[in-house]
Amino acid sequence: MISLHNSSKYYWKNGEFLPLDTTFDLYKSESPVYEVVRYNGELFFFDDHISRLKISLAGLGAKPKTIHLPSTDEMRELFVKNNFPEGNVRIDVFPKAGTTVAYLTTFFYPPEELYRDGVKVIFQYDERKNQQIKQFQEEIKIKTAELLIKTGAFETLLVNKHGQITEGSKSNVFFIKEGKIYTAPDLMILAGVTRKKVIRIIENMGLTIIYQAIVHHEITDYEAVFLTGTSIGVLPVKAIENNNYDPKNRVVREIMKYFNQKMIQERFI
Ligand code: PMP
Repeated sequence: MISLHNSSKYYWKNGEFLPLDTTFDLYKSESPVYEVVRYNGELFFFDDHISRLKISLAGLGAKPKTIHLPSTDEMRELFVKNNFPEGNVRIDVFPKAGTTVAYLTTFFYPPEELYRDGVKVIFQYDERKNQQIKQFQEEIKIKTAELLIKTGAFETLLVNKHGQITEGSKSNVFFIKEGKIYTAPDLMILAGVTRKKVIRIIENMGLTIIYQAIVHHEITDYEAVFLTGTSIGVLPVKAIENNNYDPKNRVVREIMKYFNQKMIQERFI
């Protein structure tokens, strides 16, 4: 298995809880369609993740009816069975084999100072295949890992052959200029569950969203930048390569505040 959390004792497979000593080698024959869902006594935005999983499967021509997807109760039970109070569950679907597994996966929740000071990001000149499908793409992941180790950056921003910044390697990106918010159109990216929540927040704030991918040599035109994702929530960017941004930008801070409120509300639903 890949990226398994080392305190996992049980995983879930097509409706059954099994001990982890069961060997599992589907990864060699097929690249899974997957989701990562955050848990903190409650699963965050679970229905949105399952909806996206169905979209990914449909995009690959797989028939969701023949595929066993886990329920919220089963995923809660997985955390309880593993005696794990807070973390991420990864759900991997192998459409050809007709197998779904779910297991506690490794995760990194940024410490307070990264939310305070922002993170450094760099460019990665790569395009994900089937942008709207969340499917494991090893070549890109390996390159991302190498770039991050080499530079000490927190995340890479993918730049396509037209020089447009589409998204992060595992996040979505937003740019701010003169109170307007820019993010790449849905068709060019993996439309993140967090991005969707943040777009709703921005609309409720009465701000304008422009669905446009920023060209990499125009990044100096923008005042602030932030990333969104399941584990990071809303995280300010302090630099892209050598260009600095204000991590304390008022609009970014307001979006962070409303997003954190939303996480707390969801926790008690
Ligand atoms: N883009 C890519 C390529 C990703 O892998 C992720 C992580 N799932 C995201 C965006 C962010 O999506 P989410 O908010 O659903 O975690």
